[in-house]
Amino acid sequence: MAAAVLERVGYLFYVVHPERTKFREVAEVPEYVREVLPIFAVVVILEQAVGLFKGGIRINDSITSIFQGVLHLMFKVVLRGVDTAAYLWVYQHLRWTTLPWDSTATWLLAMIGCDLGYYWLHRASHEVNVLWGAHQVHHSSEEYNLSTALRQSVLQHQVTWMFYLPLAFIGLPPPIFLVHAQFNTLYQFWIHTQHVRSLGPLEYILNTPSHHRVHHGRNRYCIDKNYAGTLIIWDRLFGTFAPEEEEVVYGLTHPLTTFNPLQIQLCHYKYMWDTFWSTPGFTHKLSVIFKGPGWGPGKPWRGVIEDIPDVHAPQEPYNPQLPTWCNVYVYCAAMMVIFTFIATANVLPHFTAMTTAAIFVFIGLSTITVGEMLDKNPLGFYLEMVRCLLYFPVESFVVASTPQLFAGLALYGIYALRAFYASCICFWAIYLARSVTIKTKSA
Ligand SMILES: [Zn+2]
Ligand SMILES: [Zn+2]
Repeated sequence: MAAAVLERVGYLFYVVHPERTKFREVAEVPEYVREVLPIFAVVVILEQAVGLFKGGIRINDSITSIFQGVLHLMFKVVLRGVDTAAYLWVYQHLRWTTLPWDSTATWLLAMIGCDLGYYWLHRASHEVNVLWGAHQVHHSSEEYNLSTALRQSVLQHQVTWMFYLPLAFIGLPPPIFLVHAQFNTLYQFWIHTQHVRSLGPLEYILNTPSHHRVHHGRNRYCIDKNYAGTLIIWDRLFGTFAPEEEEVVYGLTHPLTTFNPLQIQLCHYKYMWDTFWSTPGFTHKLSVIFKGPGWGPGKPWRGVIEDIPDVHAPQEPYNPQLPTWCNVYVYCAAMMVIFTFIATANVLPHFTAMTTAAIFVFIGLSTITVGEMLDKNPLGFYLEMVRCLLYFPVESFVVASTPQLFAGLALYGIYALRAFYASCICFWAIYLARSVTIKTKSA
């Protein structure tokens, strides 16, 4: 047990043994990301607890980041295989040679090749507007902690798969590619921290917390810098490296003022749509889609740095204040949603499509109501009452469809959720009754 946990902690640092991570078939490749979800949960909760104790952490931002991670993984399940289908097709029909799947040299080549592919996909995600529309989600937090790593776009994989196709052309077997694509992603979790300042000589080779802090900055010196995944050498080689200097101000150059996941995920596409129609000329319209997010008629591909607000720390983040009872309620509701997601993620293959859809719609609705409550929008609180009532029909449907899953520990999980949502319904009933009484009296 301890050895298994330790092995999974190693995944987060790319500390893996080639012999244990070589596979002949795609179906044999483990879901490493799903396996480490409980470790993510424990480490993020610990960091948040320390942050709460020391001060300087905003749980509304952290909940929003975690929710974007949940939505990202849910979409990955729904669109299963879309992002790897092109890789498989190119490998099967267009590959120049076949690299041996069980060779350590192939394994190492895959590690470096995936990282180089990631560098270019990440760079394109900042320098091509339509790709930035998805990637900006990851940069929309004004904080920088482990939860920020989880803030991902639901569309990220659907728009970036083409950057790995050269590896399929050279005959890198799909299972080895899938292994390294996952480890490359997992490595990038721990670098989202402000607790590690410098790693000495490793800063020359590895992507580190310091380098990635710069990447998340909106100070002018940070813009379009440090695209690395695992190795910082690509930025040094291709001229996009910047060391950490002045204190970094995190987030988008024009920060969002919402915790609503629909707006966080889609706001840039709405902006692009408006800009597309208001920009004159067909070539200019194409440029709106394919040039950098800072581009405008008469400007270079990536725009001009003078258009970026010249910010310096400290800056006041978006932080609506809720009454304490409301904060406690929203945090408990968020914890229950995260618990439901982690508990169901590991048994997903046992659910039917309809059951998975019911769970995902409920979780998706939950992220919206919690986001609206964090935004202090009164509509969010009414939506929340509806969501609590909806829990019971969704639960009966899920349990009735897959009764074999709900025994032992899982049954206790269901009891806990029932108790929570039943208490919520009572709470909202009393709350509504009281507000009606107060209104009647004051009227
Ligand atoms: Zn980025
Ligand atoms: Zn990041």
